[in-house]
Amino acid sequence: MKEVSVLAPASVANVVCGFDCLGFALAAPFDEMNLRLINEKTVRIINQDDHNLPTEPEKNVAGVALSAILDEIGDEIGFEVKITKHIKPGSGLGSSSASAVGAVVAANKLLSERFSRMELAEFALKGEFLASQGRHADNVAPCLYGGFTLVRSVFPLDIVEIEFPKLFVTVIHPQIEIKTSEARKILPAQVPLKSAIHAWANVGALIAALSKGDYGLIARSLEDLIVEPVRKSLIPHFDEVKNASLKANALGGGISGSGPSIFMLSETLETADAVKQAMCEVYENTKIEFNTYVSEINSEGVKILDK
Ligand code: ADP
Repeated sequence: MKEVSVLAPASVANVVCGFDCLGFALAAPFDEMNLRLINEKTVRIINQDDHNLPTEPEKNVAGVALSAILDEIGDEIGFEVKITKHIKPGSGLGSSSASAVGAVVAANKLLSERFSRMELAEFALKGEFLASQGRHADNVAPCLYGGFTLVRSVFPLDIVEIEFPKLFVTVIHPQIEIKTSEARKILPAQVPLKSAIHAWANVGALIAALSKGDYGLIARSLEDLIVEPVRKSLIPHFDEVKNASLKANALGGGISGSGPSIFMLSETLETADAVKQAMCEVYENTKIEFNTYVSEINSEGVKILDK
C-alpha cells in the first residue's frame, strides 16, 4: 500500500472534573488527511485548507510526529501528507492532536501496522508537544483509542479506556482565540486539600457512573471547583450558556480543553439539539460569531478510509 486516507476526530479534554487526564472523542468535526509513501527521507506537508498552518515539518505537529516515526525506522523512505483541517486550531477541540494522531495512524497503515497503539501514542505525543509545550495526552488518547479515556500517567504512558453509555455532545465554539499558554498561566499554583478531595471524588464517581450508565450520577459528577472558576472568565457568556443548557436538560458540561469551546453532555439526541438551540440563543444576542456541533461520542477514534 502506497497511499492512505484517514479521518481524525476532534476531542474534548478535561471533561470538567478530569483536568489533564480525562477526554473523549467526537463524531464531528474531524480533519481529513491523506498520506503517501515517498522515496526520500523527508516529510512533505501540503495544507488544503485556509488555516495557514506551517508546512515546515518541524513547525507542524503532523510533521513532528511523522519525523519521529522516520527517525525510529531509519529506512530511506518519507511521507507526503495532505491535510484538510475542519477542526480550527486553538478551538479547544484537540485540533493539534487530530493532526498528530491522524498522521501516525496513517503512517502505521503504510508501514504494515509495524507499531502498537501505545507506540503510536508516543509518536503523536512528540507532535502534540509542539502545540502544548508539554506532555499532554488527554486529547491524543481519545483521538487514537476513541470513546472516553483516562490518562493515568504520562511517564510512563498509561491510558485507560472507560466504558460509557449512549451520550450526545453539544459544542459551541465562539470564534475568539484563547492561547493555551495564557489559559495555563491563570491556573492556581496550589490547590486546597478540600478542593482536591472534591475533584478526585468527582472523577471517581464520573468513571463509575459512565461504566454503570448512571445518568444522574454523571450529572452530579460534572463539577469543578478548581479550573472552571478561573478559566471561565476567558469565555464570554460562559455562565449564561451553562445555565441555559442545564435548563434545556443537559446532564452537565463545561470548558472543552482550554476553551473557548464549551461542551454539554445529554442523554438523547433531542436534548442535545435543544441544548444547541439554548446555546445559540445566548450567542445570537452577542456580536461574537460561533459554530455549533451536535454529535455522539465517537467510540472508534481515527478512521482509516477504504479506497
Ligand atoms: P486546540 O486547543 O484546538 O487543540 P491547540 O492549542 O492544541 O489547539 O493547538 C493549536 C496550536 O498548534 C496552534 O498554535 C497551531 O498553530 C499549532 N499547530 C501546529 N501544527 C498544527 C496542526 N497540524 N494542527 C493544528 N494546530 C497545529
